[in-house]
Order: sequence, then C-alpha cells, then structure tokens
Amino acid sequence: MKEKILSILRNTKAEDGFISGQSISDQLKVSRTAVWKSIQTLRKEGYEIEAVNNKGYKLISAPDIMTESEITSQMKTKWLGREFHFLSSVNSTNEYAKILSAGGSPDGTVVVGDQQTAGKGRLGRTWESPKGCAIYISYLLKPRDLRPEKASELTIVAALATAKALTRVTGVETGIKWPNDIIVEGKKVCGILTEMSTDLSHIEHVIIGIGVNVNMNSFPDELSEKAISLKMVLGHTVKRAPVICEMLSQFEKYYEIFMKTGDLSGIKKEYMDMLLDRDQKVQIIEHDTNRNWIGKATEITDDGALIVEKDDGSQVSVISGEVSVRGIYGYV
Ligand code: ADP
Repeated sequence: MKEKILSILRNTKAEDGFISGQSISDQLKVSRTAVWKSIQTLRKEGYEIEAVNNKGYKLISAPDIMTESEITSQMKTKWLGREFHFLSSVNSTNEYAKILSAGGSPDGTVVVGDQQTAGKGRLGRTWESPKGCAIYISYLLKPRDLRPEKASELTIVAALATAKALTRVTGVETGIKWPNDIIVEGKKVCGILTEMSTDLSHIEHVIIGIGVNVNMNSFPDELSEKAISLKMVLGHTVKRAPVICEMLSQFEKYYEIFMKTGDLSGIKKEYMDMLLDRDQKVQIIEHDTNRNWIGKATEITDDGALIVEKDDGSQVSVISGEVSVRGIYGYV
C-alpha cells in the first residue's frame, strides 16, 4: 500500500505535481482515510509530502533511507528484483541469498542489506560494511543452461553494469580494474564477489554480491589508501535507492545481452572503454605459486580472460580467480 502510494505520487502527470486523495483512493480501491494513514507513515519515514486542500498530495523529497518501499517503488526492471528482500542488518547478503536459493527462491531474486556484520571479499578477505551509508546487494541467478565455467564472465557483466549505473546516477567518472573492481580517483568505490554452486555439470546458482561505498565520510586507516566513497568524491550525500534501481536496470540489460551471445562479445567494447588496465603495465600475482611477474595488459578475451604481453613479446591470458592484478606502483 505505502509502495503503491509512493509510486502514484512519483508518477503523477499533473503539472503542479499534486494528486488528489480521492484519485489515489479510487486507483487503489481503498478509503481516503487509509490513504491518509499511509501518507502519515511515509512522513514518519522521512518523506516530505505536502497536503493542500482541494489539490491533494505532492511528494517534495525522499530521504536517503533505504526502506523496501523506497527501492521497489522506483524499480524499472522486468525480472531482476521481482522477488526482493530488504534487511536492515545481515551477516552477508551473499550468505542470505544462498539460503534463499536453497529454499527455492527464483532466478532474479535480489537481497539488499543496510549493513553487513560479516561482509566478504575474495579469498576469505573481509568487506568493510558499516550501517546506513553503503549498498550491499546480491543478485541470485539460476541460469540452468549456462556452463559452470562461464560463471566468472558474469562478474565482468556485473562490473560493467555497476560502473555504468554509478556514473549515470551520480556523474562520477568510474573505471574498472580487471576483472571487477570499480575505481574512482585511483581508489576502490565498489567490490564484487561472485560465488557459484553446481550440481554435476549444471549451475545451481550464481550469486553476485556487490558492495558500493556511497556515503562514508572516511575509512579505517588500513583502507584509506585504497578505498573511497561517492560522497568523498562529490562532497554531498547520494541517495542509495535510485543508485540501486539503476544498478538493477543496467545489470538486467547487460545480462540479457550476455545470455543471448553466451559470451562477452556483445559488451566487450564497452567494458574495454572503461578498463583502466588497458595498455598499462601491471603486476600479476599467481595465487597458487605466489609468483609475481610484470607485463602489459592489452585486452580481454570474449571469455573474460586478461591478455598480458610479456617483455619478450609473448602473450599470456590470465584467468580471474587464479591471479590478482596490481598496478606497478600501487593498487591500480
Ligand atoms: P582484492 O582482490 O582487490 O584484494 P577483494 O575483492 O578480495 O579485493 O576485496 C577485499 C579487499 O578489499 C579487502 O582485503 C580490503 O583490502 C578491501 N576492502 C574491504 N572493504 C572495503 C571497502 N568497503 N571499500 C574498498 N575496499 C575495501
């Protein structure tokens, strides 16, 4: 009910932005008192809604509170996020999505947390996840016809979609560090952790977890060289719900292109345009051998591997999950 009213207020066609209480109650087939009560609840949540005799209601501003209604009333996707779970605190949105998957939640289910108490990075690392100032989101995907070895390509799809969404909503210039870190001003504004479960040769689920630093004012010392938030770049608070909705729209779009071609060929050009490692010298750290070598990153393959040219001119394609890539002098 609240969600529906918010969506009506947002989509009113009237020039002055007002919509009458009668018209809302007609559309929703509820009493005007019920409409009034929901408006009061929305106000308590921080929405500024003007009420004028003979004109009705008008939405003045929405707060950066991440309620379920704030997000779902702005969602424009066809299938992504149609099952939606919002948690004010969760250990890890990826862990929660795993439980949902086992319980039968469908392809496209989305989990958003306002805080993570055990946010995860790759290789058992932690993802700093304070409350109320960031986006912690997981997409549960069940692409039964995709071969398991293709799942790592989805992390590239997610990086491109997220980078595009952040730039579209905030205007901040973003770049991608292969395969999936999103970088602003040389620091990490977003990290992505993709996890998969398979049965025999089929994908049971792929869960893509994305953490975006939105409104943090600072980071703990050990991260301050490496991490940045959108607010630290822009100098003002960014509303998270519109960012989430754009992330979902962009991911849905790029995922559909990916599923059509079955590889990254349809999005590679756009990804390469955002790739910061392109034509740069990079350090490759091999996880299993701990060997560390330097080469020039040139491009990605249609399967998402990074092609690195060694000094002797030979080319090696490295696979995410097996290596970490660092800049020569620092993180990027
Ligand atoms: P990488 O492969 O770059 O090490 P991961 O995807 O494994 O990154 O993410 C975990 C790492 O990211 C942590 O070890 C930490 O250095 C860094 N990190 C943790 N929390 C944040 C955050 N909120 N913003 C940016 N970087 C973070």
